[in-house]
Order: sequence, then C-alpha cells, then structure tokens
Amino acid sequence: MAPPAAHVVVVGSINLDLSVAVPRLPGGGETLLATGITRSPGGKGANQAVAAARAAGARTSMVGALGDDAEGHLLRKALADSGVGRAGVATVDGPSGQAFITVDEHGENTIIVVAGANGHVQVNAAALAIIRSAGIVLGQLEVPQDVLAEAAAARKEGVAFVLNAAPSAPLEPALQAEVDVLIVNEHEARDLAGRDDLEDALNHLVALFPVVVITLGAQGAQLLRYAEPTITVAAPSVQAVDTVAAGDTFCGVLAAALAGGMGYRSALEHACAAASLAVQSPGAQTSVPLREEVAAQHA
Ligand code: ADP
Repeated sequence: MAPPAAHVVVVGSINLDLSVAVPRLPGGGETLLATGITRSPGGKGANQAVAAARAAGARTSMVGALGDDAEGHLLRKALADSGVGRAGVATVDGPSGQAFITVDEHGENTIIVVAGANGHVQVNAAALAIIRSAGIVLGQLEVPQDVLAEAAAARKEGVAFVLNAAPSAPLEPALQAEVDVLIVNEHEARDLAGRDDLEDALNHLVALFPVVVITLGAQGAQLLRYAEPTITVAAPSVQAVDTVAAGDTFCGVLAAALAGGMGYRSALEHACAAASLAVQSPGAQTSVPLREEVAAQHA
C-alpha cells in the first residue's frame, strides 16, 4: 500500500487504561488481591490515530485534550512515539481520561471510564487549523457530540467525515447530518437503528447515511450504500487472543486508506487485514500492527 498522502485528522478521546487481572470479579464491599497490573495508552480516538499512523503509514493528527497530570505527559509521549501530530491536543486543568479495567480468569471484565479531559475537547484555533488541512476527519463517541459536529462542519468541502458510532449512543441531529461514512459493529448497528434484527437495522441505517460500514468480528466487514451492491470482505482466519482495539485498528486503517484515495473494497480489505493482526496480540495501542506487517498479511 502506497503511503496515503492525505492528512488523517482524528477528533476523539485519549485515555490511560489501567488494567488489573483478578481471579474473579469482586462483589460489593469485597477486597481482592490482583494477580497483575498493566498501564497502557488507550482511548478510541488515540487508538484509531495510532492505527492510521502506524498501521497505514498515513500523516495523522489528533484533536483532543489531556489533563495537566503525569498521565497526560505519558499519553502525549505515546502519541509522539507512534508519529501522531499533537498540535491539536490541548492541555486542560484536571485529570486526563482514564479507564479502570478488571479482567477475570475467564476474560470477563468490568470497565469504569473517567472522561476527564475528554469532556473538555474544544475546536480552538489550533484544532481548527488542523481540521482545515484534513483529507479526512474521523470521530468516535467518547468526546461530546456537539464538539464532533463542530469539527466536522469545519472541514473543507469534499473532505469526508467518518464517524465510528462507538460506544453506542443516540446521535444528535447536527452530528448525524455531517456523517459521510458510518462505521458500526453489530451491537451499535442495532442500537443506532433501534431494531433487533440486523438486516432491518442495516436497511434503516442505509437510508440515513451515504455509506455504512459494519464490522462483523471474525466474519470480516461489509460496506452498504442505498441501491448499490453490498461489498463483503471476509476476515483472514486467525487465532484471536485479544480483540481489544480490533475495531479501532479497523477504523483508523479504513479512514487512512480512503484518505489515500483507495477504493472501497481495497480499503475494507486493508482494514480487515490490519484488524486481524491486532486480535493476535494483547492490549490496545500495543496490538496495532506495523504497516509492513499489514502489507505482508494482505499480500
Ligand atoms: P469491535 O471490536 O468494535 O466489536 P468487531 O468485533 O466487529 O468490532 O471487529 C472489528 C474487526 O476486527 C472485524 O471487522 C475484523 O476485521 C477484525 N476481527 C475481529 N475479530 C476477529 C477474529 N476473530 N479474526 C479475524 N479478524 C477479526
């Protein structure tokens, strides 16, 4: 895959994931001894930016916010290490976004997210300049929807706005109106459409959004457009060890591929190839593959 020339701008969350391994999930009032702890950079926005930069080789910038704390320094460095531009990442008073995760021996988990600085993202002058230079703008729902709508509306004409509608939430009309490409998994498709049957849900979404991409886990992904044939891409058959950030890797690589002018089918194939590598290693940003690995997988 030739390096996409266009600038990928990700508007979204940046979190520190604090993950503790426990023999079982604790009950109310219970104290348990953990068997391990890891701290790793995460947040859907940052994960997707790292995927666009590292797995697709795209010039990528992040618009977001970090707290004025030690976590903020660590998270800014993680973006730098992956080659993600930070000029649009503001430092605000208070804590950085953090996710507190417990995982038991069966892989069951509980997650508590502190939005922190992610709740204070703004389209300030620095962010605006970056958005105006974007070849594609990619957002998710871990930052306020009015900020996403404002960022999307500020993009240049002809630039696509891609929304990964995760985690599930009803969309505000101002944001929905900006979306060129919607990316959802099966749960998000059902939630967003308000329909239990997946086919019904997709028919509903296709009438609302110009392009709908649905990720189907080990089955791969599909791209649907009104009155156009559906594009279906199978996922490479792999041994999945940890699906954390598979969706984020998919979104970042898909956006980078589209920004680089790749056709829908090829873009979907690249995104599936990259995501299938991400499920083969643990962690969020740590599992995002290198561009060379994606090329080898996709050859
Ligand atoms: P999410 O992680 O957001 O729930 P999915 O489970 O649909 O989303 O996974 C996103 C993408 O990751 C899929 O479209 C696919 O390309 C890849 N993927 C997920 N699970 C597997 C798997 N077991 N084997 C291969 N690829 C996978």
